[in-house]
Amino acid sequence: MEEIKVFCPGTIANVSCGFDVLGLALDAVGDEMTVRKTSEKGIRIVKIRGQELPLQTEKNVAGVAGLALLTASNYEGGFEIEIDKRIKPGSGIGSSAASSAGAVWAMNELLGKPFSQLELVQFAMQGEKLASEVAHADNVAPAIYGGFTLVRSYQPLDIVPIPTPDDLYATVIHPQIEIKTSDSRKILRTTISMEQGIQQWGNLGGLIAGLFRSDYELIGRSLEDHIVEPIRSILIPGFDAVKANALKAGALGGGISGSGPSIFALSKGRETAEYVAQSIQETYKTVGIPFDIHISKINAQGVKQIS
Ligand code: ADP
Repeated sequence: MEEIKVFCPGTIANVSCGFDVLGLALDAVGDEMTVRKTSEKGIRIVKIRGQELPLQTEKNVAGVAGLALLTASNYEGGFEIEIDKRIKPGSGIGSSAASSAGAVWAMNELLGKPFSQLELVQFAMQGEKLASEVAHADNVAPAIYGGFTLVRSYQPLDIVPIPTPDDLYATVIHPQIEIKTSDSRKILRTTISMEQGIQQWGNLGGLIAGLFRSDYELIGRSLEDHIVEPIRSILIPGFDAVKANALKAGALGGGISGSGPSIFALSKGRETAEYVAQSIQETYKTVGIPFDIHISKINAQGVKQIS
């Protein structure tokens, strides 16, 4: 195979009580990317559609992640990349992760799959380091493995794929405002009380068990974050009203997607997720900030070939 076209999913990191460890992949939100082998060494980004992003290899996360893979491989040639960017950077739904994960997944396919999923995450993390100075895995892991993933540890890197209940849907609203990841980090406290810790790991354990058992009520009861959400949500206009009305419309629970400004709700069934979208839409119209809304099944597969 000389060329491959892939779908690179958007992802939700910081899934409620799973702050910094639990992420999930989306199905209806994502970029497309074409990667082809070249005899010339190195990586060239030849086209980017949809957004203004750097074409220089070292300044684009796809280039940086790809170079990490290329350096680790014994392949003598290089790659050309075209990116169809549909996830807006800075939206909190893993725009940079989609490009990093998509690039290394596609290259691995073209080389006959010499690398494991864990190794691909490690390469893609180099792209994340370029985007946010931290080589975090909580978006690139679900983008590569699909479904929900838990980053149990960084040293050594340990990614635990969590099964996804069949009928689980996400509704995501992206208010068109910019929140810098560095700002939303700065406002967090660096210590928590024992009581908050106990609440949080109780909920995270409950959420993981709920996902394993497809127990939607347990998932809903466990989608609680009393540590990060109350502080970060202050930066997102209309957050409390959106969340309250999503729950009223039947969502199991929700929270901030990544470091915001996107807000997500999880629901059982497409119909409920659509109803939640309608309700959130009505709520957000009163806030006066333009927004996008996405409804998506959880993507159990991760990056996938589309041609
Ligand atoms: P997100 O959380 O949606 O990934 P970030 O703000 O963390 O958004 O990352 C976006 C940053 O990464 C921007 O500064 C953007 O210019 C840079 N970037 C470089 N290459 C890409 C790419 N291929 N896709 C998205 N962002 C990229």
